[in-house]
Amino acid sequence: MGVSLDIADLRARTKSPAADIAATQGDGLGCHAGRDAMRAAAEAAGMSETLEQLRADYPQGPHDQPQSMCPAFGSLRVGLRMRRTATILSGSACCVYGLTFTSHFYGAKRSVGYVPFNSETLVTGKLFEDIREAVRATAKPEDYDAVVVINLCVPTASGVPLRLLPKEIDGVRVIGIDVPGFGVPTHAEAKDVLAGAMLKVAHAEAEQGPVQAPRGGRSERPAVALLGEMFPADPVVIGALLEPLGLAAGPVVPTREWRELYGALDCAAVAAIHPFYTASIREFEAAGRPVVGSAPVGVDGTAAWLERIGEACGVSAATIEAAKQKILPGIRGALAAQPIRGRITLSGYEGSELLVARLLVESGAEVPYVGTACPRTPWSEVDRDWLEARGTQVRYRASLEDDLFALDQLKPDLAIGTTPVVQRAKEAGTPALYFTNLISARPLMGAAGAGSLATVVNAALRNKPRFDAMRDFFEGVGVGHAAGVWQEVPRVKVAPKAEVPKKPIGEMA
Ligand code: SF4
Repeated sequence: MGVSLDIADLRARTKSPAADIAATQGDGLGCHAGRDAMRAAAEAAGMSETLEQLRADYPQGPHDQPQSMCPAFGSLRVGLRMRRTATILSGSACCVYGLTFTSHFYGAKRSVGYVPFNSETLVTGKLFEDIREAVRATAKPEDYDAVVVINLCVPTASGVPLRLLPKEIDGVRVIGIDVPGFGVPTHAEAKDVLAGAMLKVAHAEAEQGPVQAPRGGRSERPAVALLGEMFPADPVVIGALLEPLGLAAGPVVPTREWRELYGALDCAAVAAIHPFYTASIREFEAAGRPVVGSAPVGVDGTAAWLERIGEACGVSAATIEAAKQKILPGIRGALAAQPIRGRITLSGYEGSELLVARLLVESGAEVPYVGTACPRTPWSEVDRDWLEARGTQVRYRASLEDDLFALDQLKPDLAIGTTPVVQRAKEAGTPALYFTNLISARPLMGAAGAGSLATVVNAALRNKPRFDAMRDFFEGVGVGHAAGVWQEVPRVKVAPKAEVPKKPIGEMA
């Protein structure tokens, strides 16, 4: 590549400061106030065990502070997407405002419950009583299978003990989770916090006796549970890829209803399509299920995935080979039909970044940098190895600064990234695509994935002249003296001359 990224140095220079312990003592302070103070307060409030588990599940690196949306959105979204599930937030009003706004922006059709607090109810413990009352009022078996309560930053730091809520009210499960921004680095991992908590309860129920069957009945073939939110067509494509192995696609976790949790636990193996579901994987392993990382993307990725899934499910080598012969030519053809030519940097916080990078490389693109806000786990190792062997630098827990640095240094033909990365790229006249809205929202698996990704990426690469024209047209607008509201015609401000030292430099203190 010829370009090296000194990201360690950059991180040292951009380290965020700690802040006041008063951060925990009022409504409205949180992720912008300082993680160290919040953590210290939570430890002092008896939350050490919870924080220790979060630290183990979601190891923190330089990217240990929310740099995108509030992490709790991941848990909230999982709860809101489940049938017969009520979700209640306990946190500062400003956090709840942002979270409800975002959830409705993303199409939630459900109400979000909220238990407000003030300094007095927080300090006296009345907040916990209010939460318990809210849960009691909500947990009606005719309406719900489960009530989820999510402690945000301030109640977690204050030790509001959701673990003391009743586990069940009239058959409605009560799931209390702590999802503080100072303990869960990304909204992706927050999905795992709730999915893992639900799997744990469902597993315990399944051990007690018979449980509800899946809505469509049990699969006749051994099923592979799929871990990670993905484009709706992908589980269907994966089902078609599994068929020649004599297997079926099982439920996707996070599930859309409670009974699917039992179906997922009943699987022959788990495909960790998204590799950061550490708590969920712990529950699957406790249920004795083998877990396979990566996903069927591209030719190499699909071949290796079919082999590992087949082996995990006890499929014969001959059957696996026959499945590969049947499936791979179609994917090879789709990749060849729409090659991608160009240098692409890629960054995101969904957890599927390495899979997308693999598909881009197999399509012919040069991908020198992949940044993911998610942590390194055993389940993405095959993807990391594959990418690094092809010259891609993989950065886990990448910060925004890492991604921008890569963009500036590597000068790609196309930047795929988060909103601020895309903004920086467009300002420079570089075509750019939003990872979450434009890449996550399309199929990736099998031949369908290859064709779909190439279509959007090639269209963006062809847009370079338009970006250049836009940059030339808007250059200088909204920056420097041309920014803000002015009563008069703005004039270029001339920077004052640097003061000339009166003494020679050598004599200065
Ligand atoms: S709950 Fe979310 S928005 Fe509120 S302080 Fe914590 S990380 Fe920030």
